[in-house]
Amino acid sequence: MALMTGEQYMESIRNMNMQVYMFGEKIENPADHPILRPSLNSVRMTYDLAQMPEYEDLMTAKSHITGEKINRFAHIHQSTDDLCKKVKMQRLCGQKTAACFQRCVGMDAFNAVYSTSYECDQAHGTNYHDNFLKFLEYCQTNDLTTDGAMTDPKGDRSKAPHEQEDPDLFLRVVERRPDGIVVRGAKAHQTGIINSHEVLVMPTISMGEKDKDYAVAFSVPVDTKGIYMIIGRQSCDTRKLENTTMDVGNPEFGGVEALVVFDDVFVPNDRIFLNGEYEFAGVLVERFAGYHRQSYGGCKVGVGDVLIGAAAVAAEYNGVQKASHVKDKLIEMIHLNETLYCCGIACSAEGSATPSGNYLINLLLANVCKQNITRFPYEIARLAEDIAGGLMVTAPSEKDLKDPVIGPVVEKYFKGVANVSTENRLKILRLIENLTLGTAAVGYRTESMHGAGSPQAQRIMISRQGNLAEKKALAKSLAHIEE
Ligand SMILES: Cc1cc2nc3c(=O)[nH]c(=O)nc-3n(C[C@H](O)[C@H](O)[C@H](O)COP(=O)(O)OP(=O)(O)OC[C@H]3O[C@@H](n4cnc5c(N)ncnc54)[C@H](O)[C@@H]3O)c2cc1C
Repeated sequence: MALMTGEQYMESIRNMNMQVYMFGEKIENPADHPILRPSLNSVRMTYDLAQMPEYEDLMTAKSHITGEKINRFAHIHQSTDDLCKKVKMQRLCGQKTAACFQRCVGMDAFNAVYSTSYECDQAHGTNYHDNFLKFLEYCQTNDLTTDGAMTDPKGDRSKAPHEQEDPDLFLRVVERRPDGIVVRGAKAHQTGIINSHEVLVMPTISMGEKDKDYAVAFSVPVDTKGIYMIIGRQSCDTRKLENTTMDVGNPEFGGVEALVVFDDVFVPNDRIFLNGEYEFAGVLVERFAGYHRQSYGGCKVGVGDVLIGAAAVAAEYNGVQKASHVKDKLIEMIHLNETLYCCGIACSAEGSATPSGNYLINLLLANVCKQNITRFPYEIARLAEDIAGGLMVTAPSEKDLKDPVIGPVVEKYFKGVANVSTENRLKILRLIENLTLGTAAVGYRTESMHGAGSPQAQRIMISRQGNLAEKKALAKSLAHIEE
C-alpha cells in the first residue's frame, strides 16, 4: 500500500495507543476529540489530495528506493524540480486547509537525515545511512506521517546541554546496550505529533565533545512505551467545544503542537541514525532548518492566499471594495505573499546535490526566505485586520445570531451591504479572526516567527553564507583600489 486514502489514515491513527494529555486529563481518543480533530483533518488533506488526479504531479513522486508511486511528503528530493514541487505542494495544502498541515516537518527531517547519515558513515564507518534507508522505505511503503522532532526545551539558553543544571533539558542517551540505546528528555512545540505514526528525533544545536550523549538521532513509533504528550493551548481553542461552526472561523481544519516526553525510551540499533558523532549535530541542524525555512515559502503563502481572499470578501461585504486604499492594501498583501513564494521557489531552483545524491536547497536563499517569513505574514495580518474592521473582534456569538429574540437585532445592526446576509459577513470576519488571533494564528503568525528557528538564527546563517569578502572585492576592483 504505497498510498493510503484519507479514511485509512484516520483509522490508522485511531488504532494507535498514544499517551496524550490535555487540560489535566488523559485523552482516550484524541483522533475524535473536538479540539484535536481539526488538526487531524489537516493532515488527512495530504492524503486526500494525493488521491486526486489533478494533483498527482504535485502530491506524489516516484520513490528512488522502490520505484513505486509514493506521497511526496515521504519523498527524498532527487532534483531541483522536486524541490520546487515541494513548495508548490505546500502552497496547495495551505490553500486547502488555511492551517498548519503538519506533515512537512517529517519530510524535512527525512531529507536532512538522509544526507547527514550518509556523510557520517563516510567519516566514521558507521551504519546509519542503511538504518535510515530501511526506516524510510517502511514509511514510504506504508504512507506514514512522521513528526520531525528537533527542538529541546533548552533550559538556560546561555548554557550548552552538558552545562544545564537539569541534564534532561536536552534529550540524551542515558544507557547504551548491545541491542540499542535508552533515551531520556523531551522535545517541545512538536507539530502534529499526535497525528503522526513515527517520530524522527534530531539534536537541536551544534555540539562539542562534552555533549556527545546529546548528539543522537533516531526514530520510533509515537506510541512506543515511555513516550507521552502534553497538548499546547491555543487562543480560542475551547470554542471548538461549543458545538457551533461560525465562531470557530475555520471549523474543519487546524494545527496542533505538544510537548513530547521521552521517559527512558528504548531505541533498537536499526533505528539509530546518529549516536555520539557530535560534529554531525550541527550539519543536521543546518540542513533540517534549511529545508524547513524553504517549506514556509510554500505553506505560509497558501494560508496567506486564504487570508487575502477573506480580506477581499470582507471588503465587498462592507461595501468598500472600490475604495482606492482598500484596493492598494490588497495589492500590497499579494505583493508580500508572492515575495515569500519567490523566495521558496528561488532557494529550490538554486538547490544542488549532496554527496548522498539527494538535493539540498540553496541555504542562503532559504534563510532569506524564512527571515522574510518572520515579518511579512504579520504585515499581511495587519492589513487584513485594517480592511476587516473592528467587528472581527467585537461580534456577538453564533448563539446570539441564532437566538429567536436577540438574533434579529444582531442581524439588523451588523448588516453590511444589503444583498449579503449578516451571517455570511460574520463568518468571513471570524475566519480572519481565526487566522490572525485565533487557533490558526499559532501556525500563521508565531510559527512564522519561531518555527524553523527564531529570526536571529537566520541572520547568523545569512552572515555566514552571504560572502561579504567577495562583495568587498567587487567594490574595490571597480573603484580601482589597490592595497
Ligand atoms: C507553532 C510552532 C511549531 C513548531 N513546530 C516544531 C516542530 O514540529 N518540531 C520542532 O522540532 N520544533 C518546532 N518548533 C520549535 C521552533 O523551532 C522553536 O520555537 C525555535 O527554534 C525557537 O526556540 P524557542 O521557542 O525555544 O525560543 P528561544 O530559543 O527561547 O528564543 C527566544 C528568543 O531568545 C533568543 N535566544 C535563544 N537562545 C539564545 C542564545 N543562546 N543567545 C542569544 N539569544 C538567544 C532567540 O533569538 C529569540 O529571540 C515550533 C515552534 C512553534 C512556535
